[in-house]
Amino acid sequence: KERTLAMVKPDGVSGSYTEEIKRIIVEASFNIVNEMLTQLDKEAASAFYDEHSSRSFFPDLVAYMTSGPVLVMVLEKTDAVSDWRGLIGPTDARKAKISHPRSIRALYGKDSQRNCVHGSDSTSSAEREIKFFFKDLVSG
Ligand code: ATP
Repeated sequence: KERTLAMVKPDGVSGSYTEEIKRIIVEASFNIVNEMLTQLDKEAASAFYDEHSSRSFFPDLVAYMTSGPVLVMVLEKTDAVSDWRGLIGPTDARKAKISHPRSIRALYGKDSQRNCVHGSDSTSSAEREIKFFFKDLVSG
């Protein structure tokens, strides 16, 4: 089975959407292998989103991701990476509400930044991101 990293971002935790999102996860037959509520500092948020460090939205992204606690989870099932990306929907929650109205970002997100959840975009990203948060958990 495959593993992916899922995160409920600060707007999801502060909006009390965590239980709803976990219900969707369990109903979709993911096994929650590990979970941790944590507060990212500037350094951790910048490292996590390092691939976007040259983008104009990066300072805003770091401010958003450090604005409150996040819930990180390791999810496991067959095709976990693509299935979780499918469940969360497109990056821009406003577009998701039109194109994928039942996706998690459509249901609980707000816009292109405050989109409530994260999901690894490939198996190699998943491996990196799982190690980032759960250093002693061997992925794959
Ligand atoms: P994530 O990596 O969080 O799962 P994603 O892969 O759908 O999201 P990315 O393009 O990797 O989207 O962007 C990472 C995050 O940066 C987005 O989830 C969003 O919070 C923020 N972001 C992306 N594009 C914009 C934008 N145009 N304006 C503001 N914030 C943005």
